[in-house]
Amino acid sequence: ERALVWFRRDLRVDDHAALYHALRAARTVYCVFVLDRDILDALPRQDRRVAFILGALQVLDDDLRALGGSLLVRHAHAGDEIPRLAAELGAQAVFTNHDDEPQALARDAQVAERLASFGAELRTFKDHVVFERREVMTTTGGAYGVFTPYKNAWLRKVNDFYLSSYPVERHASALAPTPGARGVPDLAEIGFEAVALTPHLGQGSRGAQALLDDFLDRMERYDETRDFPAVKGPSYLSVHLRFGTVSIRRLARLAHQRMQGGDRGAEVWLSELIWRDFYHQVMHHHPHAMAAAFRAEYDRITWESGPEADALFRAWCEGRTGFPIVDAAMRQLNQTGYMHNRLRMVTASFLTKDLGLDWRLGEAYFAQQLLDFDLAANNGGWQWASSSGCDAQPYFRIFNPVSQSEKFDGDGKFIRRYCPELASLDNKAIHAPWERAPLAMQAIEYPRPVVNHALARERTLARYAVVKSRA
Ligand code: FAD
Repeated sequence: ERALVWFRRDLRVDDHAALYHALRAARTVYCVFVLDRDILDALPRQDRRVAFILGALQVLDDDLRALGGSLLVRHAHAGDEIPRLAAELGAQAVFTNHDDEPQALARDAQVAERLASFGAELRTFKDHVVFERREVMTTTGGAYGVFTPYKNAWLRKVNDFYLSSYPVERHASALAPTPGARGVPDLAEIGFEAVALTPHLGQGSRGAQALLDDFLDRMERYDETRDFPAVKGPSYLSVHLRFGTVSIRRLARLAHQRMQGGDRGAEVWLSELIWRDFYHQVMHHHPHAMAAAFRAEYDRITWESGPEADALFRAWCEGRTGFPIVDAAMRQLNQTGYMHNRLRMVTASFLTKDLGLDWRLGEAYFAQQLLDFDLAANNGGWQWASSSGCDAQPYFRIFNPVSQSEKFDGDGKFIRRYCPELASLDNKAIHAPWERAPLAMQAIEYPRPVVNHALARERTLARYAVVKSRA
């Protein structure tokens, strides 16, 4: 029998659930990736993610070839292409890993139906997270809506079985060159323009390995360094987790082992990986929250709108708010496709609680710009910051952008990197330049603050008051 493995957000050979199961089940295994026109046609013609994917596919193809197979890459509508290809190749089954985003589920249901029409089946597996769907539930069978109890239950359940790798290489003899495979197209061939990627991300699973090696030496200090954007504290693996160029089981196993040895940094890092699982299961149990407030009463809030609000939104997007930490963060996002976690919280809070703008605007902008954009994590992060999500921060806790800046970028190193026009200011002035160095600022081209934080805070408290009122 023949099987077709359909790669999606799992662009690696190592520890790959669907590939492993296909190799165990079939005599001949082919591999395909579809550059899905349903997704790509809607994107701007310069997109870092598309460039990242093509690089990752190149490594995947090389790795499959080294094992006797190859990757067929098609630029088409995946929902049509996969059943057509399965029929063409005579595959009785298509093996793929779960993608629980609502649109992906709809697409997969359609593919399964079409395959069934000629007697083939779609077989799907968990691969993207350690625990998914209904695997971690409360004792009464409900879904967790608060992180800490979820995390405790996650840690109680986890064991070697869930974290061990699928030994793909051991069964690779069933891999066969996929008919029609002619390498990976370049950006121009699929209608995209060249775009620069930050070199430290590396290419596909090879890049992930290099980043991981680098992070392993720093992991034990993660708990102390992770909040400071000018410090190389976090792993920078998010884009690799997003596209599956590294296995979550491998990362969680490493962190879990070190944690058991008493490593505090590893414990805190594992906790972040558990946040990822947490938001993923929230998406499964509450798909409505991907478009509306998780807590319905927050949809009663009236956000600012009109030309002035539009101008404020553009200033936020472009890093021109007059708050250096916010502007440096937005410029980091625009220039690299990455933003430090602390700054995602600061800029999201600033958009919703200083500018009074709908969190969905910020969510959509992040979705466009982030290399690691992930529906579940991005939505979770935004709803956390706007206080509308599950286990969000209470709405009356409002970040002060200047004190956040002083606390987490005290010597202004991060600000100076992305707002070089402010580099000459001293460490006190740099966090609130117009207030603390008005004379020097007259010679510097840098915007005045677009809002007064203290007043904005009052307006936000008033705006959020509707949350407590009856519908
Ligand atoms: P590390 O600190 O090394 O963490 C390791 C991994 O844990 C990350 O790669 C990520 O996969 C996971 N992780 C860490 N924090 C979180 C979290 N709060 N929620 C879910 N997973 C987490 N993360 C995304 O992957 N995609 C997004 O689109 C995204 N949007 C966000 C939007 C907002 C408003 C906020 C506040 C957070 C968002 N995050 C998102 C979470 C977090 O900021 C990033 O995962 C992290 O900054 C990525 O950098 P890193 O790989 O160096 O992280």
